Amino acid sequence: MLEELYQEIILDHYRRPRNRGKVDPADFKAQEYNPLCGDELEITAKLTDGKISEIRFDGHGCSISQASASIMTQKLLGKTPGEAEAFIHSFLRMMRGQIPFGGKELGELKALEGVLKFPVRVKCATLAWHTAQEALGKKASTAS
Ligand code: ZN
Repeated sequence: MLEELYQEIILDHYRRPRNRGKVDPADFKAQEYNPLCGDELEITAKLTDGKISEIRFDGHGCSISQASASIMTQKLLGKTPGEAEAFIHSFLRMMRGQIPFGGKELGELKALEGVLKFPVRVKCATLAWHTAQEALGKKASTAS
């Protein structure tokens, strides 16, 4: 069953998170908190030759917030900051029930779209993406 597959993807990323930890020194860095659920995330990333060569997430929270962060780091790795911002924008539109990605971009993101059925959890799924958006919008070196 499709729903079970999606649940499995989320649990897999929750139990075996990809790119967990901190990039140090980081070119991009931001922290966000979701008071509705208590999820906390920090995103750090490094640029090499204009592309995201390393991106990690740290923090704690529910399975959806952690799995979403794990999936996101895999999707943004290797993109330029501009491409990453465009991708984040598309994802956030999807989480508002708007135009979804094309088939091949969708992949594991489809598992997160299932969260739309539980409006109270949407913030859990989008937290990492908002945090990355914020990180990309300001250089770590200029952050206080
Ligand atoms: Zn949560």
